[in-house]
Amino acid sequence: MRKNEPHPLVQVEHYERYVGAEVVERILEKARPLQDLRVAHVNSTYYGGGVAELLSPLTLLMNSVGMATEWRAIQGPPDFFNITKKMHNALQGADIHLTPMKATIYEDVVYENAVRNRLDHDRVVIHDPQPLPIVRHSRKRGPWIWRCHVDLSRPDPALWAYLKPFVEQYDAAVLSIPEYERELSVPQLFFMPAIDPFSIKNREMNDAEMDERLAHHHIPTDLPLVVQISRFDRWKDPEGVVAAWRLARKQMPCTLVLLGNMAADDPEGQDVYSEVMRHSDERLIILSREDTALVNALQRRAAVVVQKSLREGFGLTVAEAMWKGTPVIGGNVGGIRHQIQDGHNGFLVDSEEQCAGRIVQLLKSPKLRHQMGQHAHETVRRRFLMTRYLEQYLDLFNAFEARYHLRPLPHLST
Ligand code: UDP
Repeated sequence: MRKNEPHPLVQVEHYERYVGAEVVERILEKARPLQDLRVAHVNSTYYGGGVAELLSPLTLLMNSVGMATEWRAIQGPPDFFNITKKMHNALQGADIHLTPMKATIYEDVVYENAVRNRLDHDRVVIHDPQPLPIVRHSRKRGPWIWRCHVDLSRPDPALWAYLKPFVEQYDAAVLSIPEYERELSVPQLFFMPAIDPFSIKNREMNDAEMDERLAHHHIPTDLPLVVQISRFDRWKDPEGVVAAWRLARKQMPCTLVLLGNMAADDPEGQDVYSEVMRHSDERLIILSREDTALVNALQRRAAVVVQKSLREGFGLTVAEAMWKGTPVIGGNVGGIRHQIQDGHNGFLVDSEEQCAGRIVQLLKSPKLRHQMGQHAHETVRRRFLMTRYLEQYLDLFNAFEARYHLRPLPHLST
C-alpha cells in the first residue's frame, strides 16, 4: 500500500465468509435501485453507547453499497442532555416531571439543530428521542424514519402522549423488537441491532494481545474472570452484579471486572460510577476506560460475561460476547431475551440469587461453557451480523415509492 493511502474500508463482500455468497449477492441486488440515494442518519452522540456503535459500521457499509450516507450528531447544552436523559429513563418506565420550560428547552435546541443541519436528503433516519422533534422543521424530500432503540414497552404515559405527535409526523417507526410496538398512525417495523465482526472490538485477537491488554490495566488472571461491560447506568444494574458476584464467590473464587464508559449524551454516568466505585477491591476491578481492544480482550478472556440489565432496548454487549464464544448470563428483559435462549446459548436470570447460581454453574463446568459458547457464536453468525441489519434498511428504503408512500411491506427480511 502506498504511503498516505487509507486502509481499505470493510465492504459487504468481506462478510461472505460468515454469511455466504448468496446473502452478499442478494444485498448488492437490493442496493442497486438505491444507487446515489442521499441518506442521513441523525443521533445525539458520535461516541459511547450502542447507537454510535451501530452507526459507525452501518453508515460506512451503506456508502460501500452505493448510497451517499452521512451521519450527523445533534449538539446541545448540558440542560438539554439532562432533559433527554430523563426522557430516555421515563420511556423505559421511570418517573418524569416534564415542565413547560423543559419542553421548551428540548424543542428549541432541536430547532437550532434543524437549522444547522439542513436535512434535505432522500431518506432521513432519526435515532432515539433526543432529535425526535426535528421532523417538524424539515422540508421533506423523501421519507423520514424514526428509529427508536430504547425499551418502549412501559413508557411514562404523559411523556408518551407528549412525544407521540412528533413520532406520527414520520413516515415509519423502526423499533428493536415487537414487544415495543405502540399504538401509532404510522407503520412500525422491527429491526434488531447487529455487530461488526471486523471492528477493533470484535475481530480476532490472539492470546498475547489479550494478555498485553489485561496486564496493561492490571487485571489479575489467576482466578476466572466474571465480566460486565456497560455504560455506568442504573438500568444496567451494576449493584446487582456486585451482589451476585459476592454470593457466587463464596462457592467459586473468581474476579469480577466491571468496565464502563460514559456517553457524551448521558449526564448520569459519573454519579453511577462513583456509587459503584465504593465496592472496588483487589478482586473487584472497576474501570472507566476508553479502550475498545480491552473490551474485546475481556469479552474473549472472561469465563462468564454478565449483562444483568433491568431494562435493555437490545444489549449489543450480549451479542458481542456471544460472538466471541463466551457464555452470557443476561437479565431476562427486552432485547436480551431475543438473543439468549435460556439454557442453550446462555442463561436468562431474574434475580441476584439466580445470577449467582448460574455463575457458579458455569465456573464449575468448562464443558458447559464451551458448548454454550459455541451455540452463542452460531446464534450471532446467523442473526446478529451487520449484513442482516443493512438488508433490513435496504428493504425499507426500497419499500417507499418515489413520492415516499410506504408500500405494503410483505417482503421485509427479518
Ligand atoms: N462499551 C464500550 N466500552 C465500555 C462500555 C461499553 O465500548 O466501557 C460499548 C459496548 O461494547 C457496546 C456499547 O458500548 O458496543 C453499548 O451498547 P449496548 O447496546 O450494550 O448498551 P447502551 O449503552 O446502548 O444502552
